[in-house]
Amino acid sequence: MSTYRTPRRRTRLVLAAAITVTAALTGPVAVSRAATDRPAPGAAGLGDPMFPLDGNGGYTVRHYTLDFDWQAPRTPFAASTTVKATATQALSRFDLDFAGNELRSVTVNGRAAQTRRDGDELVVTPASPIPKGSAFTVKVGYTADPTQVRHRDDAIEDYGWIPTPDGTVLYPQPNGAKMIFPSNDHPSRRAPVTFRVTTPADRTAVANGRLVDRTERSDGRVRWTYDSEQPIATQLVQLAIGKFTLIDSKGPGGLPLRDVVPDALVAPTKQYRDLTPEHLTWLQEKLGPYPFNRYGVLVGDTDLGVALETQTLSLVPKADLLGTKVDAERNLVHELTHQWLGDSVGIATWSDLWVSEGHARFYERWYSEEHGGDSFEAAMKTAYENHDQWRHDYGAPAEPTEPNLFKRMRYDGSALVLYALREQVGAETFARIERAWVTQYRGKTASTADYIRLASKVAGHDLTGFLRPWLYGSKTPPMPGHPDWVVNPVVTG
Ligand SMILES: [Zn+2]
Repeated sequence: MSTYRTPRRRTRLVLAAAITVTAALTGPVAVSRAATDRPAPGAAGLGDPMFPLDGNGGYTVRHYTLDFDWQAPRTPFAASTTVKATATQALSRFDLDFAGNELRSVTVNGRAAQTRRDGDELVVTPASPIPKGSAFTVKVGYTADPTQVRHRDDAIEDYGWIPTPDGTVLYPQPNGAKMIFPSNDHPSRRAPVTFRVTTPADRTAVANGRLVDRTERSDGRVRWTYDSEQPIATQLVQLAIGKFTLIDSKGPGGLPLRDVVPDALVAPTKQYRDLTPEHLTWLQEKLGPYPFNRYGVLVGDTDLGVALETQTLSLVPKADLLGTKVDAERNLVHELTHQWLGDSVGIATWSDLWVSEGHARFYERWYSEEHGGDSFEAAMKTAYENHDQWRHDYGAPAEPTEPNLFKRMRYDGSALVLYALREQVGAETFARIERAWVTQYRGKTASTADYIRLASKVAGHDLTGFLRPWLYGSKTPPMPGHPDWVVNPVVTG
């Protein structure tokens, strides 16, 4: 994670913004219900405060099917994506999020459509308008560019397609899925995905969810079919290809585990990968049943700086599993925590990222303290000392701006908010809040306001006045239970 300091100053508008954002995200639908059934263009974006054009209005995606004829790590290949959707308004045209790649053809319900590319928007005008409420199918044919990658100057670094020596892994967060397939690329939107990928005979393809079929074709290539089983946000899609060994085992309660490991890394990563059942047991004590049907660690043969919680199959770069046990477990527990918090309970907007990353860091540090790592309290005291500086540099926890989205405030700075809440309400009440959160919002998206509301309900008193200054204020509030903790003065420059 970089300590790069953004030159942008925060403006003081964000509590209001957080409220209007929620309205904006439902805007296109709400407007269409009130309007006539005259066909109109679907909105180009959902109005997210970080990425206003991400996601699209006027329809809901029910299913994606990706057909990829993969060749080699850096070789363009024939691809098509089939989007099954339902119109939430009468549509004269609509957008998909799609970046790069070479567009070949677009059909809507089997008929050729007119298209225009505008930045990362693919604007599709069907041969005839789509009535409100009707199901429709969009098929986009393209030549995929498996080298397409973008960069962020925060903890994300490179995202998109990540070529490896003998294949690829995906790093779609935050909005790189549009480089992989045309989609509604926003975390509030999720749909099931079917992956149909052909590879050379000496490679293995893996993806989120369950391996449905593996077929050796007469031309010597192999076709792999995966089903995500549960709906998935585009930023959490994984599709990896390589010379992999698949290692099956069972977790607590018989949960199917499948690690995906480059052949040469099977032995060197085994001792830490084998800790997954312990991690699951520990997290299930805190958060209740694991929310998906299966889990596994995908070891990335890449020097990628960061791991990613791709749903049911976390991507963990090899370096994270070749160092100390404490460091490896922090990364493994962090990504596993995200399966509950970030994957199962999704975020409503990117401004809610603190909920996902703060929780992952909170449980990561808590686990680590109990297993040979640093003191959780000492780490939180350090975060507390820096909190005004981070507010100044990166925005308050729930007030990111686009350039500082994945900076330290969203990690330790947001774990600190949860730590403060636990100090305020007590460990027992905090545990009930957390259980209620992952239970009530399982498989759904939820916002910062939802968290404040649920915490207040479970605690039995309104926590708005406590949590809002922590999440939105320019000054760090006093830490309950630690009157001696002091915030360092802000250094500007
Ligand atoms: Zn994380």
